[in-house]
Amino acid sequence: MTLHIETPLIESCTMSVTSGRSVWLKLDALQPSGSFKIRGIGYACETCLSRGARRFISSSGGNAGLAVAYAGRRLGVPVTVVVPETTTERAKELLQLEKAQVIVHGTSWQEANAFAQSLIDVSDAFLHPFDDPLLWQGHATLIDEVFRSGLKPDAVVLSVGGGGLLSGVIEGLHRNGWSDIPVLAVETMGAASFNSAVRAGHTVELEQITSIATSLGAKRVCEQAFQWSKDHPVRSVVVSDQSALSACERFLDDHRILVEPACGASLAVVYENSPELKSFSNILVVVCGGATSTVDQIRVGEKSR
Ligand SMILES: *Cc1c(COP(=O)(O)O)cnc(C)c1O
Repeated sequence: MTLHIETPLIESCTMSVTSGRSVWLKLDALQPSGSFKIRGIGYACETCLSRGARRFISSSGGNAGLAVAYAGRRLGVPVTVVVPETTTERAKELLQLEKAQVIVHGTSWQEANAFAQSLIDVSDAFLHPFDDPLLWQGHATLIDEVFRSGLKPDAVVLSVGGGGLLSGVIEGLHRNGWSDIPVLAVETMGAASFNSAVRAGHTVELEQITSIATSLGAKRVCEQAFQWSKDHPVRSVVVSDQSALSACERFLDDHRILVEPACGASLAVVYENSPELKSFSNILVVVCGGATSTVDQIRVGEKSR
């Protein structure tokens, strides 16, 4: 038993026709917590529990916090999530629905995170949203499932925030003997910390996040993600917020699934038939999902841009 589910892998007829190649979707938007994050966080939480943790602590008001809250409820472990004042009512509501204790502290994530760290007791486990080898091991199950299905894509398209998903997917490619399959690492403008790292030759701290895709808003990617850019064929792609939002709308029409702009960024690469796809005929898109957007937010976001 795992806390994540094995998600459907389907060929998208509309997206295949639009881009003139086979487009396969790994539908992690259908995970019980609303995003792929439960794969790694579920695995990390189970591991921490087996090592004696009595409480899980997170400082994420987004999909990572939701995954911790879900995992804690399923495992019968209390969860505390510290979020800054800027967190939306909806995000807090979703956390409370999963029975997490929500503490609002500070005006920025840095302040909330510092407070969360100060709460950690010897019997508590702190779950990082992207920088933890246990997380990458859990995320890698996404590729194990694709491998078992018998489909071998010639490229993988995924979104990058702090680089946890990227690190896990590449770990999965390698552990299944697929180290030759390139990865297109997609970010939005204003949240492109992986792109900055690749350009600079080392990880870089962005001054601020200006993208609407808040789930991609890690100011600095983890070292492992940067390391993979040297040890695996990875191409960095940056799209606009507008492209990500339009892709969310089209995807809702095509597949009746609402995803966050963070996920829309990857879908945009296909819908806009990015030149980066040129040499590929059979691509796998990680539909990473996201539970914090509403249809209204996607539409309002689009109009205001
Ligand atoms: C967390 C998240 C990402 C980015 O994942 P990282 O591991 O931080 O790179 C992308 N999309 C969604 C919906 C997410 O929740």
